[in-house]
Amino acid sequence: MSDENVLKIVILGEGRVGKTSILSKYFKKKFNEGEKSTINPAFYEKAVNYNGKTIQFKFWDTAGQEQFNAISALYYQGAVGALLVYDVTIFETFQKVENWVRTLREAVGKISLLVVGNKFDISDKAELDKNSQAVNSYCSKENCSHMYTSAKTGYNVDEAFQSLINTVLNKVVSSGNSGGGNQRRGKRLEIGEHKKKEKEKKGCC
Ligand code: GDP
Ligand code: MG
Repeated sequence: MSDENVLKIVILGEGRVGKTSILSKYFKKKFNEGEKSTINPAFYEKAVNYNGKTIQFKFWDTAGQEQFNAISALYYQGAVGALLVYDVTIFETFQKVENWVRTLREAVGKISLLVVGNKFDISDKAELDKNSQAVNSYCSKENCSHMYTSAKTGYNVDEAFQSLINTVLNKVVSSGNSGGGNQRRGKRLEIGEHKKKEKEKKGCC
């Protein structure tokens, strides 16, 4: 498959929020209670048929470098979408999402984002309610979608990936679409033109 039909998605967030676990649940249907914090960098691939064309999504996982603030430019390079993960039981990890988004934008410019609050299975409803205003206001300001997930039970895991894949497809193959959950559609673009477009546009989503 040519590079032009491969779309890169990165997963970002603080260490231990469940990034590797979410990928593992989606791609391997497995949850590992004692997921090691540092593993080799991994790629997971998924082919999606879109308007009769096969598009390969490549999801990148970190090797734990986020814990040392040492994610290289190569990790971000060429990404067209990102899954931003925080831990609903540690609200500071949501506040750090802002930093990740800023770094991501500096590296790749405009990009589709989905923010997920993971570990929903051990969340406290009162805590979620207390924090929901900050989450909603950040996500509406940045035009990002938001979902709660549990890598442990699988809650919303498939839905989160499907949602991000749809957002990226709509953005990459359509122009006149500002992405990030915005479903406006315009003139079709060839896959691959997104790279040029991304250089032209700056900002979130
Ligand atoms: P990463 O550093 O962001 O990749 O986080 P990991 O995927 O390595 O997960 C860190 C820890 O959180 C591991 O012990 C996981 O088993 C646990 N974990 C991840 N997701 C969930 C979840 O949805 N619910 C619960 N209860 N634990 C989780
Ligand atoms: Mg990990």
